[in-house]
Amino acid sequence: MTSPQPKRALVLFSGGQDSATCLIDALGRHAHVETLGFDYGQRHAVELSVRHDFLGGLRSQFPELALRLGQDHVLSVDVLKSLGTSAMTHDVAIQMQANGLPNTFVPGRNLLFLTLAAALAYRRGLQVLVTGVCETDYSGYPDCRDDTMKALQVALNLGLESRLVIDTPLMWKDKAATWDMAAQIGGEAMLELVREHTHSCYLGDRSQRHDWGYGCGQCPACELRKSGHERFMAARN
Ligand code: ZN
Repeated sequence: MTSPQPKRALVLFSGGQDSATCLIDALGRHAHVETLGFDYGQRHAVELSVRHDFLGGLRSQFPELALRLGQDHVLSVDVLKSLGTSAMTHDVAIQMQANGLPNTFVPGRNLLFLTLAAALAYRRGLQVLVTGVCETDYSGYPDCRDDTMKALQVALNLGLESRLVIDTPLMWKDKAATWDMAAQIGGEAMLELVREHTHSCYLGDRSQRHDWGYGCGQCPACELRKSGHERFMAARN
């Protein structure tokens, strides 16, 4: 583990695998780390409840890492649901749209989240925004692209007269590499914490526990998590 920089970071922590991995990575790299979750009426609202379990697990099982863990924030962003229907916020089937994007795409979501995170970071004196967006095996969401993040960083810093950095540690990693990151940081205990206390399934299904965690096993998020875990475990053995 590299020694912590004297930086204060805010991790956008949804309760999913990617943001949880970003959080444990940030705890190894920054002096002080706060977390931020958003309640936007997501169908997989179970994400919000597993956040507390994951944070609790970190504190009890990885006390040295958790020493740098600061305040947890949750902001309500109900307005997203009232802007229109998506498979992420409404009970409709997941499918492709005419523009080539899946209807799980919530237009403006990440742009809004990062803008709110920047405003909170400004108030809290935090210099780094950490987000788990990824261009490698994503669903084609344009607001997860590296170019989008770089442009947004410029816009936020101009608008806030600040020097915030948007840090995207997973941008060029696939899901197998994300599992490996957790293993490198905390070994089998950390892998098990991620499997048990993070949630990725779009449908919010926690009725079935698989070797890669909970989920329906069928939706695009479960498919990615499952296949990444399989490749990670195969490479490990
Ligand atoms: Zn699923």
